[in-house]
Amino acid sequence: MKRLSEMSLEELIDPQGISCSCGKQHKTEIKHIKIGNNALEVLPEVLQELAIENPLFIYDQNTYQAAWKYLEPIIKAEKINYAEFIYQAERLEPDEKSLGSLVMIFDRDYDGIVVVGSGVLNDLGKVFAHAVGVPQIVIATAASMDGYGSNNASMIQNGLKVSLYNACPLAIIADTRILKAEPEQMLQAGLGDMLAKYVSLSEWKISNLITGEYYCENIADLVRSSLEKIINSADGLLHRDEQAIENVFEGLLLTGLAMGFAGISRPASGLEHYFSHVWEMMSLERGETAELHGIQVAVGTLLSVQIWDQLLKYQPDQQKALQFINSFDSSEWEKMVCRIYGEKTAKQIIKTANSESRNSKSDHAVRLSKILDLWPQIIQIVEYEMPTYTELQAYMEKFNLPLTPQEIGYTEQDKQDALIGSREVRNKYVTSSLLWDLGLLYEIKI
Ligand SMILES: [Zn+2]
Ligand SMILES: [Zn+2]
Repeated sequence: MKRLSEMSLEELIDPQGISCSCGKQHKTEIKHIKIGNNALEVLPEVLQELAIENPLFIYDQNTYQAAWKYLEPIIKAEKINYAEFIYQAERLEPDEKSLGSLVMIFDRDYDGIVVVGSGVLNDLGKVFAHAVGVPQIVIATAASMDGYGSNNASMIQNGLKVSLYNACPLAIIADTRILKAEPEQMLQAGLGDMLAKYVSLSEWKISNLITGEYYCENIADLVRSSLEKIINSADGLLHRDEQAIENVFEGLLLTGLAMGFAGISRPASGLEHYFSHVWEMMSLERGETAELHGIQVAVGTLLSVQIWDQLLKYQPDQQKALQFINSFDSSEWEKMVCRIYGEKTAKQIIKTANSESRNSKSDHAVRLSKILDLWPQIIQIVEYEMPTYTELQAYMEKFNLPLTPQEIGYTEQDKQDALIGSREVRNKYVTSSLLWDLGLLYEIKI
């Protein structure tokens, strides 16, 4: 069987799906992908193939500015009958309110939506298209994140970051004339979201070893090769080389596809994303504006690699881990969750954590014995997948990415809290879960 990483985009979106040695049939709902200079030209054809006659275009002010000049001639020449909605907010949140705005203007005559944008607009589009049951097309405006081709949306529900598994777009169009003009920060964010894969791939494999969670090497390989492609093209980004931007976009898109193939966010998101999620929730609670997703994720990646730099020299201590779990105090733990997340969100977290026995002693014992047995393999995985702290730091400096939480508005305490709190975001075995199992989570300094 051909490996996923060797397949063309066409082959990857084969509607039949791909039978994989992991036992799954990897399949995506995406029917059309067009990337390149002038890619927008395919829009009329795509609308026709998806039988969309009355689309609703969704923008924010910036994406309207970036794309309308290229869209207008096509829409006019083809006499496309359309409606549009432009979010006016300076900063759009992927929450109930933003989604509600779409519900309030939606007319049942609209038979498809065309999201013109990236991150948050994309996520809103996925959830909305799924809710109203119409096909969705995305016109990408930035190579800033990897969610274009995935079926999960990162939303804020009741103040808590959640991943909702909804419809993925049926068509993705990325015109490099638009991408090329994206602000520098967006490009940095795209790179940052990709750096995360060093951590997410390691953690996925480690979790497979310790918890038996599903893992597909073929998907991991697809993500690994996308990451490599981006790292190799990155120099071209510094002078906005169109081919480099196209490569980065394609790498990000493939990673999103990989998430869809796996049916989970594992291939693309781990502890580094949780740092970002917790910081975003902190910002939300404080009424402050958070930095772009991918930029936060880049900082989270460097912190995660820093933790592993320490763990690679560490020898697990069974006594220490047992002492930790035996003296674990659940009311102290609840207090800590409340302090980090605020009363309202904490309540939800504690309820979920208790219902899945997250702090169970017997489960801890099972995992600990695996960790002790498999420690050399865990080290091997990390040495293979991750760069060293110094390598990653040098790379981030080259692209002017911030290196510390302080540079993006968070304190030393926020950093430690995000690490401790990351274990509680949801039931996913990440580096902080491993630190907890080793009895190190509440004392490690990064
Ligand atoms: Zn597979
Ligand atoms: Zn991401």
